[in-house]
Amino acid sequence: MIAGRSDYDVQVLLLEDIDSDADLIREALQQSGIAAEVRQVDRRDRYVAELEARRPDLVLADHSLSAFRGVEALHLARQRYPDVPFIFVSGGFGEERAVESMKEGATDYVLKDQLGRLGPVVRRALDEATRRRDQERAEHQLRLLADRLPSLISYIDPDSKYQFANEAYRRWFGLKPGELTGKRIWEVMGQAAYEAIRPFAVRALGGERVEFEALIPFKTAGPRWVSASYTPDVGPDGKIVGFFVLATDITARKVVEERNAFLSEATGLLLSSLGYETTLVNITRLAVPRVADWCSLCFEENGRIRPLEIIHQDPERIARLKSILSRYPLPPDLSFAYPKVLRTGTWDLVSEVTDDHLREAARNEENFELLRRIGFRSLLTVPLIVAGRTVAALTLANSESERRFTREDVAFAEELARRAALAMENARLYREVRRESEDRRQAVEALRDLNEHLEQRVRERTAELEEITRELDAFASTVAHDLRAPLRVMKAFSEILVEDYSGRTLDVVGQEYARKIDRASDRMAGLVDDLLSYSRLSRQDVPIHEVDLEVQVDAVVSDMGDELRAAEAEVAVERPLPEVWANEGLLAQVLANLVSNAVKFRAAGRPARVRIRAEADVDSVRLWVEDNGIGIDRKHFDRIFKVFERLHSQEAYPGSGLGLAIARRSVERMGGTIGVESEPGRGSRFWIRFATAPENP
Ligand code: ADP
Repeated sequence: MIAGRSDYDVQVLLLEDIDSDADLIREALQQSGIAAEVRQVDRRDRYVAELEARRPDLVLADHSLSAFRGVEALHLARQRYPDVPFIFVSGGFGEERAVESMKEGATDYVLKDQLGRLGPVVRRALDEATRRRDQERAEHQLRLLADRLPSLISYIDPDSKYQFANEAYRRWFGLKPGELTGKRIWEVMGQAAYEAIRPFAVRALGGERVEFEALIPFKTAGPRWVSASYTPDVGPDGKIVGFFVLATDITARKVVEERNAFLSEATGLLLSSLGYETTLVNITRLAVPRVADWCSLCFEENGRIRPLEIIHQDPERIARLKSILSRYPLPPDLSFAYPKVLRTGTWDLVSEVTDDHLREAARNEENFELLRRIGFRSLLTVPLIVAGRTVAALTLANSESERRFTREDVAFAEELARRAALAMENARLYREVRRESEDRRQAVEALRDLNEHLEQRVRERTAELEEITRELDAFASTVAHDLRAPLRVMKAFSEILVEDYSGRTLDVVGQEYARKIDRASDRMAGLVDDLLSYSRLSRQDVPIHEVDLEVQVDAVVSDMGDELRAAEAEVAVERPLPEVWANEGLLAQVLANLVSNAVKFRAAGRPARVRIRAEADVDSVRLWVEDNGIGIDRKHFDRIFKVFERLHSQEAYPGSGLGLAIARRSVERMGGTIGVESEPGRGSRFWIRFATAPENP
């Protein structure tokens, strides 16, 4: 920057003991258009005081004061203000002296007899000072900026030497300011790390802008993921004079990415199969070596801790650990690792495994040595909780690698355990559902079997019942037959007693007894007859024909003429009556029974009125026999159709109790049904339902 003539407004400290010379110098400055405020001093003490009072923009000094050497003045000024231009203005200043003073650090020199040069020399010195100050400020600002940035920034020259590094870079390598500059890359990060970045450095020094992400094995920090960009620095002559490094430690991000990828892979694995034991084993496999050197799953079963799986990349080491654990299982009351986790249901982290830990775990000296040789350095154990119960413990362990588990790894491990537990829960539910549906399937099959057999069983049972009924009927019939003969004898002899011995040896009372025996034997004979015809009913063939009801009803009523007249009963038949499918003999018997009952059970003091009528339904006919007799309570409707069931004493209404039973069996054998509607005191209405067409033509 070239300033205009009047641009300078400078503070000048002038060391000069000859006032006339000082005036000349002032004049020379003025003539050059330099607006200067000149403070003149002529002694050392004044000079020092002035320097201390304020910073001058320029020092002009005579080299040869009587009591104060110019070189000392130069040193004093440089000490205090290294960047303030210092110009010697002297008389008799030899070339040699001039060079020497420049070496001492003077900015320039001007001879008193050449004061015309003073203006340009001062201008140049001031310009230079300004330029340098600006540059220094810019550099300072840049450094400040670079140091504030979290990224690692450095500048490396073609000899692989650091020229610059920001604070973050230095701190990352654990170096103090100034410890880095001039060092070579491999001295700072180690040979292995240098080999890893060398191809990128070579490309940057070839003029290419390089960006990369790589896992670099640093000497002290261990393997770290780094994202870096190398920008070549091209000098004025087009040559590459170095390259800028901008790097970020992305290990944390990479770990998160890797773990997310791991978790989603693990989840996929867990969901892919419902055989959870295999799945869990697969997960432990997946974890090694991606997230740990070792991974194991332990269950507690009947108070014993059982390792389901132990995984390491080296099968020989797995075998070694398994044999140690089977000889010396970890004590159940151990204050860390899976015994603790299975006991407490909470995670456990041992960032640094120490000998103290091994001593607590070991049962004896040999056990301790064996465990030490395995070389566990870091352990992280989390519980697998299913339905609120800790069912297993998942352990991640590091031995040979530099990895150490920290508090930050806990959440990840817990998440893994949570997903694994979920898979176990799913597998359990699936098994239960499958078992249930299997049970249901078996039940349905059993039911189907049962249904298939049911009809068969009903048929068999019916046949059995029919057989039993037939046997009972046959028995009843035999008994009835066998009863007949002694009955006839009883009757014959009671008749003889009454007819031949009355009035002779048999008095009146005796005669009455004999008559009673005779009546009883009559009744018994009737019973036996009824029983016989009842039992015969189930065995005999019952051919069905079309029968004219009217003809049948008329025949029965006329046959009963004497009985009806004796009872002063009237029978009204509502004509016409239809034709029905029936057996004439049985029908006549049933009709006779119903009409006879209608007359027999008449109410006292009321002559019996019987009405016979028919009622047509869709495919059947109902024949009603209605009376105005004593009626029947609804609760007896069923009973009266059963064998020997009677509602009255023999004295009140004589009978065998078989009439309606015979009627029902007869009607059923004709393919019909029989029933009654009645209320006590309001007469009874018996009905028979016939088919209008035969069931089995
Ligand atoms: P019984 O030989 O006694 O008449 P039944 O089997 O014919 O035997 O009748 C059974 C019982 O049903 C009778 O004892 C009687 O109590 C009752 N009963 C039958 N028909 C009538 C009717 N028309 N009115 C009232 N009760 C009747």
